[in-house]
Amino acid sequence: EKTAYEIGVRLVGSEMCIRDRCIIASMSAVNRARTSFVDVAPDSHFPIQNLPYGVFSRRSDRRPRCGVAIGNVVLDLAVLEEVGVLDTAYFGQSSLNAFMAAGRPVWTAVRERLQHLLDAHTPDLRDNAGLYGQAFVPMDEVTMHLPARIGDYTDFYASKQHATNVGLIFRGNEAALQPNWLHLPVGYHGRASSIVVSGTPIRRPWGQTNDSNAAPPVFAPSREMDFELEIGFFIGPGNALGEPIPIEQAHEHIFGVVLVNDWSARDIQRWEYRPLGPFLSKNLATTISPWIVTLDALAPFRVPALDQDPRPLPYLQRRDDWLFDIHLEARLQSETMHSPATISRSNSRHIYWTISQQVAHHTVTGCNLQPGDLLASGTISGPSPDSYGSLLELAWRGAHPITLPDGSTRAFLADGDTVLLTGHCQGDGYRVGFGECVGTLMPANLDSEIVRQ
Ligand code: MN
Repeated sequence: EKTAYEIGVRLVGSEMCIRDRCIIASMSAVNRARTSFVDVAPDSHFPIQNLPYGVFSRRSDRRPRCGVAIGNVVLDLAVLEEVGVLDTAYFGQSSLNAFMAAGRPVWTAVRERLQHLLDAHTPDLRDNAGLYGQAFVPMDEVTMHLPARIGDYTDFYASKQHATNVGLIFRGNEAALQPNWLHLPVGYHGRASSIVVSGTPIRRPWGQTNDSNAAPPVFAPSREMDFELEIGFFIGPGNALGEPIPIEQAHEHIFGVVLVNDWSARDIQRWEYRPLGPFLSKNLATTISPWIVTLDALAPFRVPALDQDPRPLPYLQRRDDWLFDIHLEARLQSETMHSPATISRSNSRHIYWTISQQVAHHTVTGCNLQPGDLLASGTISGPSPDSYGSLLELAWRGAHPITLPDGSTRAFLADGDTVLLTGHCQGDGYRVGFGECVGTLMPANLDSEIVRQ
């Protein structure tokens, strides 16, 4: 069996073309041709070209284990290991951390093995009725769990449009973009314990706000709950304490990508953020989509990174850097609506600081990244107002509330609102997608001892 890279190089057949771009071009030809014996609709997010990893449990067996999504089913990788069809020992566990730690050569080998097993021409699974029944589970019969034990979570602020918009809204025209922003990927260390999987309800938080600044602050439920449309990268092997990851090696440490909703209480944020950045306004919850899309699956959808002026310092410079062309959408559904309405269309190609720059910057002090750590991009806002990635920007801090199909308006989220993020890359006749990242905002807790004081 030849690897996709070998096939790519052979098809191109020229030394001049053994470069990233040509290999990707021929990989997409290989990709397009590949079909599975599992039925996959053309607009499905999970064709054989994707094969994202997740952790799930069955109704009949509550023990979480690892699987990949294909079409409307989940392939149980723990079963494949038990019967010896896969000769690995990563997937009978409740997290993907061990697999993440294994590194890119293992990831690529397992992906090729799975693509072979699921190929329309491979009989091993297709014609083995007993194994087929054991290994495939309908997606509507599984419960999805967090895909990893997330030790640490960092959120960047990597979209120039978003950073500019927030600066304008919070500080006015002067110094919309802080002087450091064009020289380093600004970020903050977030809270890992409150990261939840898609579908988990979110409680409106209580907190301190102070809109008058002259008067004492008020303690009340947040009145400015917001979402943030982001993508997040799961870390693979990582680095030892004291040993930075050079930018050219950064991608070897990225396992894959999920959608992230970084729920934000803007009124709490505005009062607390100076001088150390967000704290309680962001630690209430962060929702991620359950399926991790690998960099191998995303490789055909690379686009060049944005030009950076001024040129960053050498440790942040990479010769051949790229972003992904992921079409992103934010949708909102109120309690009275029957389906969600799209309120933003953005794209991960609007990110200014790339993931390799984020990894290089994060570790340049010697800070150690570990398998299962999550690095999120920050809100991804495009150049046009309909591509802004938060309500703060879409409604411009309440100055231009958006109107929903049920006739109601929103400056910020109302109780009962469901926020649904989705994203996909469009291939030639197939999609590599992320599924959904969903959460419903529940009313503030009015019963606890603390809030009755
Ligand atoms: Mn954020």
